[in-house]
Amino acid sequence: MQAANPIWAEVQQLLQKNLSKPSFETWIRPAKFNCFENGLLTLITPNNFTSDWLRKNYSETIEKAAEEICGHNVKVVFKSETNINDNSNTPNSVSLQNINSQPKTFLTSQGNNLINRSKKSHSLNTRYVFKRFVVGPNSRMAHAAALAVAESPGREFNPLFICGGVGLGKTHLMQAVGHYRVEIDSDAKVLYVSTETFSSDLIQSIRKDGMHAFKNKYRSVDLLLIDDIQFLEGKEYTQEEFFNTFNALYEAGKQIVIASDRPPSQIPKLQERLISRFSMGLIADIQPPDIETRMAILQKKAEQERMNLPRDLIQFIAGRFSSNIRELEGAFTRAVAFASITGLPMTVQSIAPMLDPNSVGVVVTPKQVIKKVSDFFEVSAEELVSSSRRKPVSQARQIGMYLMRQGTDLSLPKIGDEFGGKDHTTVMYAIDQVEKKLSSDPNVASQVQKIKDLLQIDSRKNL
Ligand code: ADP
Ligand code: MG
Repeated sequence: MQAANPIWAEVQQLLQKNLSKPSFETWIRPAKFNCFENGLLTLITPNNFTSDWLRKNYSETIEKAAEEICGHNVKVVFKSETNINDNSNTPNSVSLQNINSQPKTFLTSQGNNLINRSKKSHSLNTRYVFKRFVVGPNSRMAHAAALAVAESPGREFNPLFICGGVGLGKTHLMQAVGHYRVEIDSDAKVLYVSTETFSSDLIQSIRKDGMHAFKNKYRSVDLLLIDDIQFLEGKEYTQEEFFNTFNALYEAGKQIVIASDRPPSQIPKLQERLISRFSMGLIADIQPPDIETRMAILQKKAEQERMNLPRDLIQFIAGRFSSNIRELEGAFTRAVAFASITGLPMTVQSIAPMLDPNSVGVVVTPKQVIKKVSDFFEVSAEELVSSSRRKPVSQARQIGMYLMRQGTDLSLPKIGDEFGGKDHTTVMYAIDQVEKKLSSDPNVASQVQKIKDLLQIDSRKNL
């Protein structure tokens, strides 16, 4: 298979001018030239899904562009590179037979649409757009489906159900659909809500005006993006009303995009009829990204921040944080902050110790821990090592004990001594508590991380 061909390169160039950037990048760019014989142009696509979508939506556009370049009739056919990645467990992914839409050439809207756009998509995070989303093998299918839905809402993939683990880009992708929809059609009414907002809107509206406001808000939209639907678990009444809202929108041909941390069938206590509604369109999952994709994400982030990071540092950070892109981004931000505060260069050598998730990274003295923790929580060092049971004090103390265990080589009884003669079982209990909270309470996790960073900075300064 040839990677590049002058004719296909020219056709691509022409298409790039006529199509919007996301459409071009998703559908046209990955298509590779295979052969061009007797007016028949054969292109290779990454998967069946893309082949189908191109065939249904872009054949004519590509043929016209090719005709312009060659000066004679051209027919285009698509072959999929592999059938392996074809998500055979999501039966709806292959059949696009019912779509009879014409090829579309959406030009990126500019100028006066901007006012409309910002007004209508105010609930969307401006960073969560397609162009900031790095597509890897882990998210190719979900990304393509999201783009398809933004281009042709209310059709085959209704609802689009995006599922995947925490911090893998579900919210980003679903909001990108919203942004792009408004870009294509500035009159489109797009609503992004969390399931919790949906639920509390419902309850408030029942109390206030017999659901009038609620129906007004949810039934008048063209595109409903509803996030973290797993929180419907056990909420009988909200489920009931979601079912009604879903049906009303669906019957009116409006598009629904749902995100969840697991597939519909694995959400406990979810009504059967909702499970079946959710599975009606397309279920697209996002998997954890591989190392190349993680590196590409960091690279993109560095470019956005106009930073020039050495490749081995990118590789190092990407190698450290593998299952959650939010954490990967967090590590990047901390590395940048760390380097700018300490004035140390952005190299693996200087950044590595602070990114070690399991330790403070360098040995610190018990005094340093007590000081940093008491400064951070604004309790005095005396109170921190006292027997005070005031909640802010006891919480700070637990974190102090945890950090002392990590950053020094003191035994449990010795740590107890540093905290005013506490028993070693108290220290053990405190460490256990903090460890539990680290995985369940993002607030505590971020506090602990911040103090670790501060300790890091101190000890580096002393080197
Ligand atoms: P989820 O909703 O799945 O928990 P988010 O959409 O909130 O995850 O993503 C977490 C963070 O990671 C966000 O800042 C998002 O912009 C970023 N992110 C996730 N996936 C990607 C990607 N493929 N490319 C670039 N950034 C990403
Ligand atoms: Mg999310």
